[in-house]
Amino acid sequence: MEQKDLLKDLIAHCKEYGFIFPSSEIYDGLAATYDYGQLGVELKNNLKTYWWKSMTQLNSNIVGIDSAIFMHPTTWKASGHVDAFNDPLIDNKDSKKRYRADVLLEEYQEKQHQKIQKEVDKAEKRFGDAFDKAQFLATNPNVLRVQEKIQEVQTRMKQALNDNALEDLRQLILDLEIVCPISGSKNWTEVRQFNLMFSTSLGSVAGEASTIYLRPETAQGIFVNFLNVQKSGRMKIPFGIAQIGKAFRNEIVARQFIFRMREFEQMEMQFFVKPGEELSWYEHWKSKRITWHLNLGLGESNYRFHDHIKLAHYANAACDIEFHFPMGFKELEGIHSRTDFDLKQHELHAGKKLQYFDPSTNESYVPYVIETSVGLDRLFLSVLTAAYQEETLEDGSERTVLKIPAALAPYKLAVLPLVKKDGLPEKAQAIIEMLRLDFTTQYDEKDSIGKRYRRQDAIGTPFAITVDHESLENNTVTIRNRDTMVQERMAIDALPNYLHTHCSWSALLSNLG
Ligand code: ATP
Repeated sequence: MEQKDLLKDLIAHCKEYGFIFPSSEIYDGLAATYDYGQLGVELKNNLKTYWWKSMTQLNSNIVGIDSAIFMHPTTWKASGHVDAFNDPLIDNKDSKKRYRADVLLEEYQEKQHQKIQKEVDKAEKRFGDAFDKAQFLATNPNVLRVQEKIQEVQTRMKQALNDNALEDLRQLILDLEIVCPISGSKNWTEVRQFNLMFSTSLGSVAGEASTIYLRPETAQGIFVNFLNVQKSGRMKIPFGIAQIGKAFRNEIVARQFIFRMREFEQMEMQFFVKPGEELSWYEHWKSKRITWHLNLGLGESNYRFHDHIKLAHYANAACDIEFHFPMGFKELEGIHSRTDFDLKQHELHAGKKLQYFDPSTNESYVPYVIETSVGLDRLFLSVLTAAYQEETLEDGSERTVLKIPAALAPYKLAVLPLVKKDGLPEKAQAIIEMLRLDFTTQYDEKDSIGKRYRRQDAIGTPFAITVDHESLENNTVTIRNRDTMVQERMAIDALPNYLHTHCSWSALLSNLG
């Protein structure tokens, strides 16, 4: 399927089946804000549980917190957000559309990468088995020319961003002849910086002193609680603090469905380590996090690492895990080595020590920090992107199926009486009674069994149990697998074990060790 169409189809599918609705839709919606519906909230909660359990339950040295969205305003001065949480903006004078200058340049580079890929595909076809990709990339003049161009753009962009040289950034856009996708023109304004934090005021006090911010990241709630948790939990370094919560950013270019929202949810973990050991922990967490993603089974080729060319003011190493979204490879999770920047800044601004006393050396120090930060909504979109499939079946009919990892599916099973009489509905309800303490279940008796299977496929229910007349005679049912559509006959008593093996948390978490 064309990738652009896929995003449209996903948006329509999410709305039709109650996964995601545009926020305040009866008032024509609010840009870049979405509500999760009855099935969406189940999937979202399951994603949170998968993350939370893997962080806190599988790591004895990681604990969680839930800090307030509002924080003392000095927090954001200390973290650098008041002065430096900016995006460079540029407007197209003809379409009046606003863009992030760095995003325009990144999209340009992505197009160049696609050109290289096209050359590779062409050559692969021509040379067949004899094709040596590494040699081709190193010698083909067309490829080399494009690679050189990408390199040049990267260097100039990095320089301009690091020097905060907004005029150079604009010049680069002009030199590359980047056009506005809407108007097609190169009629660009100056580049300006725009702060992304939402502010509001606290209580009844007027004036600047009462200005507070909606947190743009959950991380600072962890930093300011570092000593509280360390002392009350008697934590020894290395240890981590995990948190799931809402974050708010006044995004300039807020399109692409739930990929970029103004109110979204983050799942962040700050891991505190001894100074000097941070880069090996950085590698450790890179590997742990990619394993965690791959464990979902959404396809290895959908993920890649992307090292940052411009490091944030607080980082000494940083990368993204990118996912192949319908709009191309984009950031799903950030992994950052944040040094001791945040804790030191809070020490400075609060006038309080935020140090760890190491009993083995009798020394105190400010720990270094490795952060893993994944957007819950982007994770949701990654699951849907890979799960959504339109299939033509052997008999020529079509089905839309969401192949959501079984443990994450909103409903784990549907129980369907073959007909609405002869005691089959009662038998079906008894099965639900037996299973619903452990598994989310749905009962459906309306329409033909084929239609009911399709409905369950479309919402990603991994198993459909059909109760028929034989069930009354020998206490067996058929269980249909969503992905293979194979049905097998099974004793009702065997269902709990079977479901446990295929869609319990332990089934999903066991590979993470
Ligand atoms: P981007 O470059 O795409 O704006 P970022 O580098 O600013 O993202 P981080 O500050 O590293 O993002 O935030 C950590 C994670 O939070 C990101 O990897 C992403 O999954 C998520 N995230 C950030 N901004 C948004 C948003 N506006 N909507 C949804 N998720 C977001």
